[in-house]
Amino acid sequence: MRLANVDGRAVLLTSDTTGVDVADLSDGRFGPEPGSVLEQWDDFREWANGADTAEAEQISFDRGLVGSPSPTPRQIVAIGLNYIDHAKESGLDVPTGLPPTFTKFVSALTGPDTTVTLPPDGATDWEVELVAVIGREAKNVSEDEAWDHVAGLTIGQDLSERKSQLAGPAPQFSLGKSFPGFAPVGPWLVTVDEVDSAGDKDDLALGCLVNGVTMQDGRTSNLIQSVPRLIAALSCTITLHPGDLLFTGTPAGVGAGRKPPRFLADGDQLRSWIEGLGEQHQTFVAG
Ligand code: ZN
Repeated sequence: MRLANVDGRAVLLTSDTTGVDVADLSDGRFGPEPGSVLEQWDDFREWANGADTAEAEQISFDRGLVGSPSPTPRQIVAIGLNYIDHAKESGLDVPTGLPPTFTKFVSALTGPDTTVTLPPDGATDWEVELVAVIGREAKNVSEDEAWDHVAGLTIGQDLSERKSQLAGPAPQFSLGKSFPGFAPVGPWLVTVDEVDSAGDKDDLALGCLVNGVTMQDGRTSNLIQSVPRLIAALSCTITLHPGDLLFTGTPAGVGAGRKPPRFLADGDQLRSWIEGLGEQHQTFVAG
């Protein structure tokens, strides 16, 4: 199942550009907002698996109306240095325990296709990441139980302004990665069972291109800490709530790791993709 946020309403997709409005099809039992659907995820999934979307009224939509599949998360948790090749290109030690954990403040969250204003005098970089959308409260869950707490997977760009991220005596990861529009998420949520039936949920190809040139090209099987291990480890400290977003880290190929470094500039086009999850697009303009 694929669930999209179309202009603030939850839509079960029947193609990349058509779907069925959840609130209409369920006579108001679920939705209309995507956040409320995620709050009732287990009941919703059971209902949706039996729903006849083929016979229901189809709505067509424009990509410009698509928002984050979870537009109102309580928390956005993000993980750094979670691929060995990216830790090495960053000149940092490969973490042995839970990798660096920070937040992207919710005010940075947007849908998948956006125009992003570059912070003046900054050095803005790309980081394509697998994002897990939480569907069930997670507190002290084991690794074996962790996937059951994930509603689905989607794409995130952990856009990062490196000067402010790395300024000062201790890194400012959360602020440097939370400028307006720095957390595009989408295009939609793909349920874990659907991802796994099309491939392997623990081994998805992912990458991004700037102006059509490949910059990142990796696989999620190279995550140092897998999605279930991250959820198990995080849930020892924090409670993850339905709708929360977990950015899982980026593979090698970021601009800061290139020789010479390459950062985003006015007019640059960024396309990010993950196998089975679709793609998203940013255009950058000078601030
Ligand atoms: Zn990142």
